[in-house]
Amino acid sequence: MSEISFDRPDPHDFLDIDSLLSAEEKLLRDTVRQYVDKEINPKVGDWWEDGSLPDKQLARDFGEIGLLGMHLEGYGCAGTSATAYGLACLELEAGDSGIRSFVSVQGSLAMFPIWKFGSEEQKETWLPRMATGEVIGCFGLTEPDSGSDPSSMRTNAKRDGSDWILNGTKMWITNGSIADIAVVWARIDEGVRGFIVPTDTPGFSAPEIKKKASLRASVTSELILDNVRLPDDFVLPGVSSMRGPLSCLNEARFGIAFGAMGAARSCYETALAYAKEREQFDKPIGSFQLTQRKLVEMMVAVQRGTLVALHLGRRKDEGTLTPEQVSFGKFDNVRNALDVARTARSVLGANGITLEYPVMRHMANLETVFTYEGTNEIHTLIMGEAITGLSAFS
Ligand SMILES: Cc1cc2nc3c(=O)[nH]c(=O)nc-3n(C[C@H](O)[C@H](O)[C@H](O)COP(=O)(O)OP(=O)(O)OC[C@H]3O[C@@H](n4cnc5c(N)ncnc54)[C@H](O)[C@@H]3O)c2cc1C
Repeated sequence: MSEISFDRPDPHDFLDIDSLLSAEEKLLRDTVRQYVDKEINPKVGDWWEDGSLPDKQLARDFGEIGLLGMHLEGYGCAGTSATAYGLACLELEAGDSGIRSFVSVQGSLAMFPIWKFGSEEQKETWLPRMATGEVIGCFGLTEPDSGSDPSSMRTNAKRDGSDWILNGTKMWITNGSIADIAVVWARIDEGVRGFIVPTDTPGFSAPEIKKKASLRASVTSELILDNVRLPDDFVLPGVSSMRGPLSCLNEARFGIAFGAMGAARSCYETALAYAKEREQFDKPIGSFQLTQRKLVEMMVAVQRGTLVALHLGRRKDEGTLTPEQVSFGKFDNVRNALDVARTARSVLGANGITLEYPVMRHMANLETVFTYEGTNEIHTLIMGEAITGLSAFS
């Protein structure tokens, strides 16, 4: 008969989720965690406060570790499992959601469409240099008047001889001002096409969006396309509908289901350490029942969400994951991460509002994560349609 073990669970891995990871996955996870501990955590509070990012250095470092387009096969990409990619997202977001966004955008939103829908020549030209971080990419889908409903986009491409002329404005584009190429989705007469736009093309500009109170360690930009002329071999040949951008979003949303749990874990661990040290009424605040309740709620949310993410990772690796299941992970893990961040903030009292601790930064960042890559409401409707068979969109 199997028996219950009376060993006390690890407060940092209560359900021993570690035992579900392969040796290779643990090695990758540890490598990213060490990098984040050494190179991100001591500095990211200042980057966040300044609204700046050492983007070139980070790109090179991430390239060296093999994180850029890591789940893609060939063309200099590491070709890891989807689960390994998810675990890397989790560790990066334990540092900062902006840092994870940098890697997600490069791999899932800029490299993935070239890898999936690009010509052989486009793949050879761009992917190896994007995998090393020499070339930075961005993904232009959202527009000022076209957010949750990207199919209403107005950016358009028209033929001029064998060239294309692009006009329009994209909004809220991560890495826009620092990118060497932008993957821009534009309407044509017969559908939607993806274009690889080198950012030094005449007529292209990418002013940075300032005054953000969230995701400050991340560059967010407008993309302006004013009669941008591109030869035909800059269009992605493999897709001519909304399936193109939506399949990229599924890739990135998958990473977010993991990433959000990284931010949540950082908040929980900060609150746990703080609650054991901070004394009031001559006792550590962690000894009060109300605080223990908060700590346990946070721990359970982090463990549960990490298990969900891992399950999605295993399904993606075996080829059975559906977009609606990705929505489950994005929807539930991000809202729970926000709850954890808010609860952790309260455990830290006044210290919780400073950038000396990561909690308030994560909390503010998670407001963006709640909204981008499909808002919480949009993922609700995707799952609502899946369970009722009734679409709330149309
Ligand atoms: C920091 C940051 C970085 C980003 N990076 C990128 C990027 O790299 N590339 C890119 O293309 N985009 C990017 N985005 C844009 C992001 O994907 C959009 O903000 C998101 O899709 C929501 O669009 P919106 O902001 O226009 O909100 P809206 O679509 O206007 O939505 C406003 C509110 O209405 C709700 N709503 C809308 N429609 C419905 C409905 N049918 N039923 C119920 N509620 C609904 C929404 O859920 C939301 O609560 C980024 C955004 C941010 C903040």
